[in-house]
Amino acid sequence: MIYKNYGKSGDKLSAVGFGAMRFDITKNEKDNIELVHYAAQKGINYFDTAPGYCSDQSEIILGKALSLLPRDSYYVSTKFMPTNGSCKKDFIDAVKKSIDRLKTDYIDYYHIWCLRKMDHYELAMKEGMQYDALLEAKEQGLIRHIACSSHQPGGEIKQIADDGKVEGILMGINILNSHYRWRGVEACVEDNLGIVAMNPLSGGIIPQNEDKLQFLARGGDTPTQAALRFCISSPITVTLNGFSEKAHIDIACDVADSSVPYTKKDMEEISKSLGENMNSLCTGCGYCLDECPKNINIPGYMQFYNRKLMWGDSDDQLKGRLQGNEYSWGTLVSSPRSSECIECGMCENACTQHLDIIERLRYITNNIDT
Ligand code: SF4
Ligand code: SF4
Repeated sequence: MIYKNYGKSGDKLSAVGFGAMRFDITKNEKDNIELVHYAAQKGINYFDTAPGYCSDQSEIILGKALSLLPRDSYYVSTKFMPTNGSCKKDFIDAVKKSIDRLKTDYIDYYHIWCLRKMDHYELAMKEGMQYDALLEAKEQGLIRHIACSSHQPGGEIKQIADDGKVEGILMGINILNSHYRWRGVEACVEDNLGIVAMNPLSGGIIPQNEDKLQFLARGGDTPTQAALRFCISSPITVTLNGFSEKAHIDIACDVADSSVPYTKKDMEEISKSLGENMNSLCTGCGYCLDECPKNINIPGYMQFYNRKLMWGDSDDQLKGRLQGNEYSWGTLVSSPRSSECIECGMCENACTQHLDIIERLRYITNNIDT
């Protein structure tokens, strides 16, 4: 296992983190506790959870498992969302509830959870709201570090990093969407903040589509190993994996044990091969980002459309995603709708893949976002 500094914290965290959102709660609790202990034996020392994960059992299971380990052998992270109408006391109560469930005296990394647009960050930062509460909790020794988790594009993550309030940022980043958020990674590196990656396997898409993603495989890696190596060997501090079995822990730890960092040249080649092998697909390069007079999130829509071309999602499946959480949590968060496109063509002029963006947006408007 390799260990990396989390920003200015002085903590050395394992490059592979345990994402406790995939406990199999149909199993005996003992099996899940054993899984946590197996990860600790393999050198993993960062454990991430949240209220609500695994039918609200994750903090409880993780707490039982971690309480059997020496307290100075692990770092635990959890989260709470900034919500309108809450007050400082509510946020401190949430910290105390997590402490209780995690069977500890303090939480190492506490996240302002699930920022999907700048409004959410600003709400957390308002006087008397979550950030103030977390500063107080920190003073009381209930938490050690204040971080946030973000589902925003790289430019917005940069704004948060540069604001200098949080000590690290948890973000969804992987080999397929890296262009979309990489500016955020770079900003954290410049500002010396910790970086934790969630979703390194694109929510399971990479292992499920290895045949189509062979072009990602390098130096004997499978596409899954390549995707893990991409995050683990990058400036990202911790790459979270949602483990539900020991074999998954072994794969991630093997990558970390043989971690050969990707060079700038490797990164350029990966980017090029994404472009070449995904010639009718959006690579998320972001060159069209500032072009749209209607502020439509074009990379978000085009990556959404990628699902149809690359993974064969049906219109009904895509419709389900839109009606589910794509606009509130996914890549389309806070975007104006595709129907607002005025067909000015600015984005198509900028597109490095020469995609028929207007036609794709029209298709989404007429067949999917109905
Ligand atoms: S064609 Fe549509 S999506 Fe593209 S820049 Fe113009 S308004 Fe925006
Ligand atoms: S320029 Fe083209 S390939 Fe790049 S993000 Fe925009 S739509 Fe995708």
